[in-house]
Amino acid sequence: MSSPLDFFRYGAGGLGAGGVTLEEIADRVGTPCYVYSAEGFLKPLKELQKGLAGLDHLICFAVKSNSNLAVLKLLHDAGAGMDLVSGGELHRAAAAGVTASKIVFSGVGKTPGEMAHALEHDGEGIFSFNVESVAELATLSQVAEALGRKARVALRFNPDVDAKSHPYISTGLKKNKFGMDRKEILGIAAGIESFPGIDLKGVSIHIGSQILSLAPLGDAFKRARALIDELDRLLPQPLSFIDAGGGLGITYSREKAPPISKYCALLKTHFGPKARKGKPLKILIEPGRSISGNAGVLVTEVLYRKIRKAKDFLIVDAAMNDLIRPALYSGHHEVVTLRKTSARTRSKMTDVVGPVCESSDVLASDRKLPESLNQGDLLAVLSAGAYGFSMAGTYNSRPRPAEVLIQDGKARIIRERETYDDLIRGENT
Ligand SMILES: *Cc1c(COP(=O)(O)O)cnc(C)c1O
Repeated sequence: MSSPLDFFRYGAGGLGAGGVTLEEIADRVGTPCYVYSAEGFLKPLKELQKGLAGLDHLICFAVKSNSNLAVLKLLHDAGAGMDLVSGGELHRAAAAGVTASKIVFSGVGKTPGEMAHALEHDGEGIFSFNVESVAELATLSQVAEALGRKARVALRFNPDVDAKSHPYISTGLKKNKFGMDRKEILGIAAGIESFPGIDLKGVSIHIGSQILSLAPLGDAFKRARALIDELDRLLPQPLSFIDAGGGLGITYSREKAPPISKYCALLKTHFGPKARKGKPLKILIEPGRSISGNAGVLVTEVLYRKIRKAKDFLIVDAAMNDLIRPALYSGHHEVVTLRKTSARTRSKMTDVVGPVCESSDVLASDRKLPESLNQGDLLAVLSAGAYGFSMAGTYNSRPRPAEVLIQDGKARIIRERETYDDLIRGENT
């Protein structure tokens, strides 16, 4: 079972990973800073690889969850491909040396420029485009034809999984902007010859994020399988792959995330060789959070304590621009001291807030934290490896934090802290 402290543990020098303490790192690079554990990324990847061993598969890490080049390279070296949602992410994947045949391109709004880029990437082009609308398919077909190429495509199916019975953050409902329904997809297949630049190869789904029950995933897989069988009857050649998306949840606090092994078993049940005799499907998945989420923490220093009767404020040097999940969707992150506190420590109800001029600039609310915590003390905001730095901005003209990777017992800076000059680059008076 995953936990926010799987890869960061308390030792003699306080909280750390691989023999390096977060205090040492904060001394060296300053705060706020993101710190990642290489093992934290690799362990879930290896579990997925083990779960899918023996099946024709490709694990495409969702780059948007953590797009640092060193992280992409680490995962690619360990066998992962990449799932992209923009031309900028393609540029990152290329800079990290990711093999073109291991790249899929998702997202509802790909521009013709981005399409051309991906079609010509590395000569052969990327593995596949996950296409989300008829209009996008027509544009991609034109762009490919103009380049004298064929675009390998999976159509993104919106399985309309009932959110009422499965309360989770959803992208797989009819009312969401993502994907196409069954009828639309069957219509495309029936008239596929009108898209001469398209090589229709698969179906993709992605029903949401931080999914904590396998039931909605099972529902979606079942519907996708039924659709693939229908499509095979319409198309001159059977489809060759399913992209089952990402979305597997992690433990931020005490919630129970489904075990990776069970998730893989579910994929095998619905898409494995026994499920489709004679017409084997390659199984792609696009995990983001389940690989990167608990691999990182955000280290921050206490600037001030503001004492109030019922609840104090700890004002820290990290803010919503560095980690937006709490402000954006009430994301919960555990906040811990770098030194283990004893059971006798007096604690007080506390809100941990940043310096940004917004009331929503709260990193954690209503936490019992030591009353002794004060100016200069360090804290770690846990489970910050996914949608942390990748969603960071510079609001209030705050330079984005440094990123540090701990690997083989050593810490190295994988992104320098931004400077004030970085903040104004490209601006003209
Ligand atoms: C965001 C996204 C993912 C990754 O989702 P996680 O919840 O981080 O696993 C995968 N596929 C698509 C299409 C996405 O938009």
